[in-house]
Amino acid sequence: THFGFRNVPETDKERLVAQVFSSVATNYDVMNDAMSGGIHRLWKDQFIRRLAPPPGTVLLDVAGGTGDIAQRFLNYCDSVHGDQTARVHLIDINPDMVEVGRQRFKNSAYDLRSQVTLEVGNAEDLSTVPSESVDAYTIAFGIRNCTHVDQVVREAYRVLKPGGRFMCLEFSHVDNPVVGQIYDLYSFQVIPALGQLIAADRDSYQYLVESIRKFPRQDKFAQIIRDAGFYTVGSGYENLTFGVAAIHSGFKL
Ligand code: SAM
Repeated sequence: THFGFRNVPETDKERLVAQVFSSVATNYDVMNDAMSGGIHRLWKDQFIRRLAPPPGTVLLDVAGGTGDIAQRFLNYCDSVHGDQTARVHLIDINPDMVEVGRQRFKNSAYDLRSQVTLEVGNAEDLSTVPSESVDAYTIAFGIRNCTHVDQVVREAYRVLKPGGRFMCLEFSHVDNPVVGQIYDLYSFQVIPALGQLIAADRDSYQYLVESIRKFPRQDKFAQIIRDAGFYTVGSGYENLTFGVAAIHSGFKL
């Protein structure tokens, strides 16, 4: 294979993920825009619209990184319901990413501080979060970096209240052969080159491309969600941009 990181042992994967996100933390937001042509913003907007949080929602945003989802969630609550009682707790394994997020909310135009809390922690072991304590759980572009995807989903199930909703936004698999060819070319040629050009870091972006390919296909991931106990409506997922990304969702009944 032409990938550099195939078959790395599990602990090595964790070390690699830590290294990747520490090295991209300060460039992260710029790179997201550069690599996706800004489309990640539309996907994230769609993700929050799908969640459609009612007033007072308590959200746990896991692998929350620099706070894109947390920020959109609070903006939605404020602009749609005039609600400033919603709360979000962000957890991410990487202290550098969490620090960038902390700065964002500290510097935000209106005072979001009382609505946001941030913590360094692992999606596979949310030991600081009590069982049945949150209304919604989100994980955006984070789960494919985790070693045990099924364990992440089981933890989500544990912390959600009955009636609560699991929502995942993640890169997925393109369902159209023509788009697929263009996407392959873009992933394997353009993304690592852009990583080198903008962040002088080809390897981190090569890792990101590879981790996308290794993540389970839409149907298989939906089954993992059902296996953890969630109820899914229909197929349990919605493709975005031909499946370049997908929203998976499940309810804890
Ligand atoms: N959710 C943010 C967004 O959509 O912009 C950040 C996504 S970023 C691509 C992936 C994040 O997952 C990184 O901040 C990384 O530190 C975090 N991450 C990786 N493995 C994790 C784990 N096991 N537990 C929690 N966070 C993890």
